[in-house]
Amino acid sequence: MSLQLDARQRAMLKEMGVQVWLPGTAFAVQAPAPAASAESVTALAAPVTALRAPPVQTPQVATPVASPAPAIPALPVSPLAPDFGDAPTWPRLVDRVAQCQACGLHAGRTHCVLREDAAPAQADWLVVVDPPEEDEERARNAVAGDAAVLLDNMLKAIGLSRSASGTQGAYVTAVAKCRAPHATMATTADLQQCLVHLRAEIALVRPRMVLLMGRFAQQLVQLEVPEAQRQPLEKLRGSVHQVEGLPAIVSYHPKVLLRSSPNKAKAWADLCLALDTLEALA
Ligand code: SF4
Repeated sequence: MSLQLDARQRAMLKEMGVQVWLPGTAFAVQAPAPAASAESVTALAAPVTALRAPPVQTPQVATPVASPAPAIPALPVSPLAPDFGDAPTWPRLVDRVAQCQACGLHAGRTHCVLREDAAPAQADWLVVVDPPEEDEERARNAVAGDAAVLLDNMLKAIGLSRSASGTQGAYVTAVAKCRAPHATMATTADLQQCLVHLRAEIALVRPRMVLLMGRFAQQLVQLEVPEAQRQPLEKLRGSVHQVEGLPAIVSYHPKVLLRSSPNKAKAWADLCLALDTLEALA
């Protein structure tokens, strides 16, 4: 596929630390640059249709997922967790999450972080990020501030938007909906309890590709494949995993990308792998 990048797309890739490859030129990763400022990230705009740059490293070739993997095995779910039955509805999910006390994270929250506006439309992409911290809780958004701006521009670079639906839609949510109490972190057990909500979101949004961004979000792979346990995020990148029978790619949380330009280049490779995987499934 030939590259047809306009100035804004090039600027976006530059912000991610990726030097654009053009025929007859060598592709290289730029030297680490200072983290993107809010202004510079905000300056990026327009959605992009298909574009691809050679990955900065050679991830394992995307293997089309031939058949759905077994769902995450039955876990000891708290009796306080909601039971949505077979047909969750958006208002019911919002209400149940707000009242949920199924794991210890409820003790630290001011309120849950779940999109509370109209029910999301079908979106091909499900982006799962780490549990909210204070800034995300304040913003009532799974990703907030400069990290949200960067994520939106990363999505734009591959033709996606949080406000779009269908093939261009990306629904962003947190792997656990509550902030951990001060000086603590979410545990695997907490994430297991919150799976019931993620499953309801998957039933409502019906995604075709899952992007797991962050060291907590990546644990969805580890819950499903015991061999993946104790593996750091770096080891899980570059391969196609499965979450709830959907192809899943592991990458960095946007907050990490704000602090590390080299990781932005790797994140670009992750997005390219996800695109290739989805195209192979079409
Ligand atoms: S993190 Fe999830 S499971 Fe735990 S209390 Fe919040 S909504 Fe319930």
